[in-house]
Amino acid sequence: MEKNVNEAPAIGIDLGTTYSCVAVWIHNRIEIIPNDQGNRTTPSTVAFRDAERLIGDGAKNQVAMNPANTIFDAKRLIGRKYTDPKVQEDMKLWSFKVINGPSDTPKIVVTYNGQEKEFLAEEISSMILGKMKEIAESYLGKVVKNAVVTVPAYFNDSQRQATKDAGTIAGLNVIRMINEPTAAAIAYGLDNKSEIVGKINVLIFDLGGGTFDVSLSTIEKGGIFEVMAVSGDTHLGGEDFDNSMVDHCVREFKRRYNKDLSGNKRALGRLKVACEKAKRILSSTTQTSIELDCLHGGIDFSMRFTLAKFEELNMSFFDNCIDILEKCLNAANLDKSWVDEIILVGGSTRIPKVQQMLREFFNRNELCKSVNPDEAVAFGAAVMAANLSGKSDTSVPDVVLHEVTPLSLGVEVTGQVFSVVIPRNTQVPTKKTKNFTTHQDNETSLLFKVYQGERTRSIDNHLLGELTVYGVPLAPKGVPRIKVDFEVDVNGILIVTAEVLSTGLKKKLTVTNENGRLSMKEIHKMVKDAQRYKVEDQKFKMKVDAYNALEDCIYKMNNKLKEHNVKKTMNSENLMKMENAIADMTKWFQDNHAAPIDEILRMTMMLKSNVQSIETEPIPPIVKNDKKKSWYGRLFSTAE
Ligand code: AMP
Repeated sequence: MEKNVNEAPAIGIDLGTTYSCVAVWIHNRIEIIPNDQGNRTTPSTVAFRDAERLIGDGAKNQVAMNPANTIFDAKRLIGRKYTDPKVQEDMKLWSFKVINGPSDTPKIVVTYNGQEKEFLAEEISSMILGKMKEIAESYLGKVVKNAVVTVPAYFNDSQRQATKDAGTIAGLNVIRMINEPTAAAIAYGLDNKSEIVGKINVLIFDLGGGTFDVSLSTIEKGGIFEVMAVSGDTHLGGEDFDNSMVDHCVREFKRRYNKDLSGNKRALGRLKVACEKAKRILSSTTQTSIELDCLHGGIDFSMRFTLAKFEELNMSFFDNCIDILEKCLNAANLDKSWVDEIILVGGSTRIPKVQQMLREFFNRNELCKSVNPDEAVAFGAAVMAANLSGKSDTSVPDVVLHEVTPLSLGVEVTGQVFSVVIPRNTQVPTKKTKNFTTHQDNETSLLFKVYQGERTRSIDNHLLGELTVYGVPLAPKGVPRIKVDFEVDVNGILIVTAEVLSTGLKKKLTVTNENGRLSMKEIHKMVKDAQRYKVEDQKFKMKVDAYNALEDCIYKMNNKLKEHNVKKTMNSENLMKMENAIADMTKWFQDNHAAPIDEILRMTMMLKSNVQSIETEPIPPIVKNDKKKSWYGRLFSTAE
């Protein structure tokens, strides 16, 4: 990879459901990059407010005031269909609107700049990735181009493709996508380099805000990471625990006041924020309460939560985590006693019940907490980024990574049967071939439906796309041979090709993107849109800065006039004119919030020159009072 001096090193981004984190290899070590608020993780939240777009802390902080235009959980939508039962379930608790777009793709609807706008989950994720890129750029003082982005190990092909598209829209070259638990294993491996003797088995238990991943890997001296098995649920995490608390509050509100608040988006938004806070508190104490004034129908609401109640509400989720963990061990054919380290990743692993259940399951007293659960994934991603882009830097530790496919890949054959071509937990990159034939005499075309999943019936799995092979020569059924290749690249992304072999004539086709995925044209359009939004953000910021500067000037001028020596040295007529000028300017300021930036800047310049003139000589240059001129022409010589 060619390096430009103004180009920053490749970064690692953990694009989380609730929080994201960015890191970089610099000064011979990994640094977690703090955002503009000094926080090491940034909320994966985007908000639209009039002409303003907020991303991160700013967006999260105003959610209760602007629930319909504050978007979170985009990762729960990415690569999914609108009719997906999980999307339908989530929608009930989201305060923003989601509609069904073309090809059953969910679209998020917001009001921005006075107009209704629709966004795909990819676009919202691209805004978060763009923010992480900006955070890194302002820290490094250079342009960031290349990044390693992490995805949940259990993400299917559509979800991976959509995340990669989000990176492209954000103007990033995604040099590799790695699985979140693998990134955490890399972080652990680096941190405990000297202690690793031979080969060790590590289990990464990653329970975050929206997804749960469990992976079993071996780590060998020399930085060799081999994933043996992954399992998980792309829809299980802290958000579900928050939601079950919110549901409980809604039920309790109904019971106490006979009023249903489930349609009140603002109330739901406020409850969610309060419940998440309460949940965190319950990780270090046994009871807490939430108090919300005027929650719904003018009623103040308070609710006491005990740790026992929290655990009862979420027990089925916690049990599910253990079931998935067992599946992972079975898939790897490994007895739990052979696991050397249990590494906790993701904010939700701080929940005491989760830790207790893990200790009981493995029958041991200690779980490994040496890696920071919030930062380990970004840490590992940054190590990988440095490895892929900075081979010349000898300080970068070696990493050799062998990942696996999380789910089986195959095609539908007669009778809606799922015929597996690449079984799950096969090491990637990989290429496997299977031959197919016709089902009827003289069939000249064959439709291949490509699925991903573990169910025997094809339609119970996830449809990735379709490809049709034309030009099959006339022949009795079962005679033509069609060779289908399945190739999974290092990012876990699938390419399917088919060839008609029976006549010796080869015909190759690639799986079509008709399954709601973005075409290159659409991606280019979104890249342009993203740049436009960025320019609009910059313009908005410039305007806000200009307003602030003007306000600051008025404030300073007011203070100056209050100073004792100005009052003493300035003659009363000029003093009065100055006071009027400030009053006029204050009024203009209040009435002209929509004024163009040029005008605001011009006003500020005039004011500044007057502040200066008060400082240098007590009498500022005042022009004659000419009624035909605009009000500031009367008072400020520089106005016209
Ligand atoms: P992550 O996706 O790893 O950033 O994890 C974020 C999730 O962890 C969110 O759902 C948080 O509410 C949750 N979380 C963070 N800290 C705690 C805590 N102390 N106790 C329980 N959950 C937490």
